[in-house]
Amino acid sequence: MSKLHAPLLDVKREYIYPIIEKKLELLQQTTHPDEIINLGIGDISLPLAKTIQQAICLAVEEMGDEQTLRGYPPGLGFAFLREKIAEVEYGDLRISPEEIFISDGINSDASNFQELFAHHASVGIPDPSYPVYLDVNLMAGRSKYIHILPCREDNGFIPQPPEVVLDFVYLCTPSNPMAVAMSRDDLKAWIDYAKKTGCILLIDNAYSAFVRSKDVPKSIYELEGAHEVAIEMRSFSKSAGFTGLRCAYSVVPKGLVGHIEGKEFSIHKLWSMRMATKSNGVAYPIQRGAEAALSEKGREETKTQVDHYLAETKRLKEGLLHLGHSVFGGLDAPYVWWKVPGGKTGWEFFDELLQKHQILSVPGSAFGKEGEHFVRLSGFTKKETVEKALKKIGKL
Ligand code: PLP
Repeated sequence: MSKLHAPLLDVKREYIYPIIEKKLELLQQTTHPDEIINLGIGDISLPLAKTIQQAICLAVEEMGDEQTLRGYPPGLGFAFLREKIAEVEYGDLRISPEEIFISDGINSDASNFQELFAHHASVGIPDPSYPVYLDVNLMAGRSKYIHILPCREDNGFIPQPPEVVLDFVYLCTPSNPMAVAMSRDDLKAWIDYAKKTGCILLIDNAYSAFVRSKDVPKSIYELEGAHEVAIEMRSFSKSAGFTGLRCAYSVVPKGLVGHIEGKEFSIHKLWSMRMATKSNGVAYPIQRGAEAALSEKGREETKTQVDHYLAETKRLKEGLLHLGHSVFGGLDAPYVWWKVPGGKTGWEFFDELLQKHQILSVPGSAFGKEGEHFVRLSGFTKKETVEKALKKIGKL
């Protein structure tokens, strides 16, 4: 008899995308594909920018030549990409290439960072939030040490520092699914909390490229004190269309410390050791593609794509507001957080939108209890799709 890891059973949440896909498949049997409006899955819809395509193809050709062939990539990432990120993304924010770690996605990083902390370390998790934060901590056996940070309409969907002391906390800005961003003051309150308590902040910054509001920092390192308390995770997935290519990075400043049996340790050193041991790196052509995304031309092309997604999100939000609905977010992130009318649950409204109007959404409860009376709509779409959806919603 092999003994399995019991906390795996603590993950009670049903994995929602297969359920949504099943419902969609059923509808597809009776409905013409053109009639179905997919505002559900938060995946990119525009093709890869030309500059990125070319860089990846060139790198693949290098791999086909004995002179330029590359084997295993470095576990922490190629120097050319770490240097480019430090220069382009962090400029004068005092982040060095050695503090940048390349990975295959924030999904992996958000899952893995909890390994730095003790089994009984307390963790703060916003509700609603990207489901991985909660589920990986349950899987790790931390169910008794999870502190939920509610994000409701009355706090602007922004998690607030609690009275209790936490060892680490996940914060997502701009957030998924509520699509709101933390202001300078919101982040400062968390930095002050972390400095007072010794808490480490894990900032999921997947949507940094979508930030447009003036009082919203693109990076937490724009704020004083962040280098001593925060790890920042970023991704090329949504900013440059890499969801199918896989490339992301985390910033782990050298000033971060934690304790083992009362003795201070460098988190940067521990993370470098952990990455070098457990990762054989991200494919060379993909890292060259990511480097190209940060070139002048690449930034121009990808900004046009991000602007497009934001414009469709705005069209969706303004259309819903015009129709008298309560909607939130959508200024600094490509989603709209829609308060379900008439007190129904998100699942009831999801079914109504799908069955009566052929519109695919995501029920808010997929992201936590506080999402029960919301649905999320995605702006990763086209103008015609948004217009068609608004026409149908107008007849609700
Ligand atoms: N974090 C948030 C908040 C997301 O919304 C997503 C994807 O939707 C991810 C992380 C996953 O990012 P990656 O593709 O880099 O794994």
